[in-house]
Amino acid sequence: MNDKNATLRNLPKVDECLADLRTLLEQRQIPARLAKKAVQTVIDQVRQAILAGTQHGQPRSAEAWQRLFLATMETMMQPHFRRVLNGTGVVIHTNLGRSLLSEAAVDQLTEAAAHYSNLEFDLQTGKRGSRYSLVEDIICDLTGAEAALVVNNNAAAVLIALDTIARDREAIVSRGELVEIGGSFRIPDVMAKSGATLVEVGATNRTHLYDYERAITEQTALLLRVHTSNFRMIGFTSRVPTEELVALAQRTGLAVMEDLGSGSLVNLQEFGLPAEPTVQEVVRSGVDVVTFSGDKLLGGPQAGIIVGKRDIVSRIKRNPLNRALRIDKFTLASLETTLRAYYDRDRARREVPTLRMIGEPAPVIKKRAQKLLRILRRRLADRCVLSLIQTVSRVGGGALPEYGLTSWAITLKPVDRPVSSLERDFRNLAVPLIGRIEQEQFLIDFRTIQDKEVPLLADQLSTYFSSAA
Ligand SMILES: *Cc1c(COP(=O)(O)O)cnc(C)c1O
Repeated sequence: MNDKNATLRNLPKVDECLADLRTLLEQRQIPARLAKKAVQTVIDQVRQAILAGTQHGQPRSAEAWQRLFLATMETMMQPHFRRVLNGTGVVIHTNLGRSLLSEAAVDQLTEAAAHYSNLEFDLQTGKRGSRYSLVEDIICDLTGAEAALVVNNNAAAVLIALDTIARDREAIVSRGELVEIGGSFRIPDVMAKSGATLVEVGATNRTHLYDYERAITEQTALLLRVHTSNFRMIGFTSRVPTEELVALAQRTGLAVMEDLGSGSLVNLQEFGLPAEPTVQEVVRSGVDVVTFSGDKLLGGPQAGIIVGKRDIVSRIKRNPLNRALRIDKFTLASLETTLRAYYDRDRARREVPTLRMIGEPAPVIKKRAQKLLRILRRRLADRCVLSLIQTVSRVGGGALPEYGLTSWAITLKPVDRPVSSLERDFRNLAVPLIGRIEQEQFLIDFRTIQDKEVPLLADQLSTYFSSAA
């Protein structure tokens, strides 16, 4: 006990440590405030460890302390927001930033960031312009809608549309479509915020046209349909076809809105995937308002796209919420470029990374994995058991949850440590690698690893295994 107290009393003083480090801090251009925080943090960690009994005695030399201080400073100097390598095989991975932008979209975004622009300036008249007009006509061209509006994300799109159409009135929705998307986005909660009253109809597995019909009252403003996104109901289920819902709404003078969630502009069957209605098809079916995300299947920046009939979309535009939910110039610039790629279907499939990854044939993925495997076999020798296996990747982003894309992965099984330590260590690489653990092996699915990332992956993995050996 006395030992412990003596050790604690002898811990170095923050100011003295900083004074000793002065030259080093200057050389490495470490800001004073950050250096102080790092020194305090390290000393405090040592104190806590001694108190907890997990550490006996303090670091022996001034050099040992300095190594700890500098390592902590290095970590603190790194940006919190960092690039990672996505080895999960989930293409639209919400935790890893969803969609990657095309090169053209990145260029446009950089242009918008570094220069003044015509964001709200009409170059033809020389007068104030509207930021939305820059993308509206393109969205209408591509979807066949009469009018369009873009807001911050799809949750915002749903909120402002409901607020405009059904505030203080009722919106009818099937019990089978009351979804929670993740990140605690629940349709019923958003409706409550919008001031619309939710009227649930049908049973979880089956909703019929007469369920909607019977629920219509003087107070009803809207029939709402929500894409079930991240779950599927199978078995004894039934859902009213959109056309029938539209016909009912027209007979009764109501509006129909569909929250498509992911919302694709291309038919996924072209990729050998199960059919999902495209935005164009839903618009054509006569739905008044359709909302979908910019950064899910569309493959653009975070945004919520609203398309539909001119009068309703105009009302949504005039809603004061629109000012609070508006998109910035970076979104606008990269969204426009992403959308333009869709004028040519094949170009979109080549250039929009989300589409390219979803559509990439398994043999091409296998080739890329083999490239890394050859390098690793040479460099890692027997430090790690490597193999190439067929695996299943996912679209993600709430699209086609039950559907697997055939893919290829490299598996790593270290000979001298548990696979869980790989998972942790790989998260701490200079460019962190996120993968999956399956059957006591670390899996890197190559559907979501880019060609140009292979050398980086090879270097990081060989350094890791050679230094840890
Ligand atoms: C993803 C999703 C949302 C939320 O979209 P964000 O762009 O993430 O705000 C809303 N509704 C459905 C059906 C979704 O799938």
